[in-house]
Amino acid sequence: MDIKTIYEKLLQKIPKENILLEELMSKHTSFKVGGPADFFITAENVEQISYILKIAKEENVPLNIIGNGTNLLVKDGGIRGIVLRPKLNYIEKEEKEDSILYTVGSGVMLTPLAQKALEDGLTGLEFAYGIPGTVGGGVLMNAGAFGGELKDIVIKTTYIDYDGNSHEINNQEHQFEYRNSVFSKIKGIIIETQIQLQKGVKEEIRDRMQEILSTRKEKQPTNMPCAGSTFKRGKDYITAKLIDEAGLKGYTIGGAQVSEKHAGFVVNKGGATATDILELIAHIQKEVFHKFNEHIELEIKIMGENK
Ligand SMILES: Cc1cc2nc3c(=O)[nH]c(=O)nc-3n(C[C@H](O)[C@H](O)[C@H](O)COP(=O)(O)OP(=O)(O)OC[C@H]3O[C@@H](n4cnc5c(N)ncnc54)[C@H](O)[C@@H]3O)c2cc1C
Repeated sequence: MDIKTIYEKLLQKIPKENILLEELMSKHTSFKVGGPADFFITAENVEQISYILKIAKEENVPLNIIGNGTNLLVKDGGIRGIVLRPKLNYIEKEEKEDSILYTVGSGVMLTPLAQKALEDGLTGLEFAYGIPGTVGGGVLMNAGAFGGELKDIVIKTTYIDYDGNSHEINNQEHQFEYRNSVFSKIKGIIIETQIQLQKGVKEEIRDRMQEILSTRKEKQPTNMPCAGSTFKRGKDYITAKLIDEAGLKGYTIGGAQVSEKHAGFVVNKGGATATDILELIAHIQKEVFHKFNEHIELEIKIMGENK
């Protein structure tokens, strides 16, 4: 991989300020850890995304997609190749007889989107208030909380595969499951998603959103760098409860700690490396298996290489 050749090719269609070299991923992840990406590129439209895909293919450059980096652990050695952040920030509204459709660019953040729905007096997105990710990351993860998830409101998604072909899939084809979708399997860049909302009563929507936000603040370490729940919920157990009962609340390795507020969250209490976090995760998994014979599965995604 010849960095200089790739850079020069990229500059033909991507604004210079959108291409960052050796960019520390700790600046782009909510865990605030992660080594440098060779290229960190913000793409502002589909043409730029298609061009980056073309160069990546021609030059055989590995490609990684990032939203707001709030469900990601990037390793200390960083990421070889391109990290692409689609900054597609539009919301188009369409009125139907019995509902409202929003077609939303994958770079739109879920919390402001929920706020817009409130302003428009629409119900269906209250659950997403306080989730700090983008629509793209949210669709891949089937993000959800407080009894709602994207699966409930997504109508269709458009994505571009790594060969540059565009596809549109309906709700069923997303193969949504708990914190997962088909996008974990296919190599594609989510471009936009259409969601369906219902007309509601503004005061009720606002009250529900406020209630959700206060519960988050009360129960979760929202003021500490983390990536939300580190592990998935179990089929017949609450993972955080097992971690707590294993006596691990507050357990620390380097700068990584099992949150004292919520055992399901690993937090960076200051100066953590990705290695600290990975070691802590391995320790938690080992202890929970030892005490309860349950293998707890990661919810967060891991990218990059060791130092
Ligand atoms: C304080 C806190 C609270 C949280 N609370 C919740 C919660 O209540 N519920 C919940 O579900 N999650 C929660 N999360 C986790 C996280 O916010 C969600 O999973 C969110 O949907 C991730 O979006 P993102 O844009 O940050 O994705 P990223 O973390 O950037 O990426 C996640 C995955 O999606 C892929 N991806 C991102 N964008 C695209 C795209 N356009 N095309 C293709 N692939 C893409 C990435 O490659 C990666 O595999 C929380 C996180 C934090 C820090």
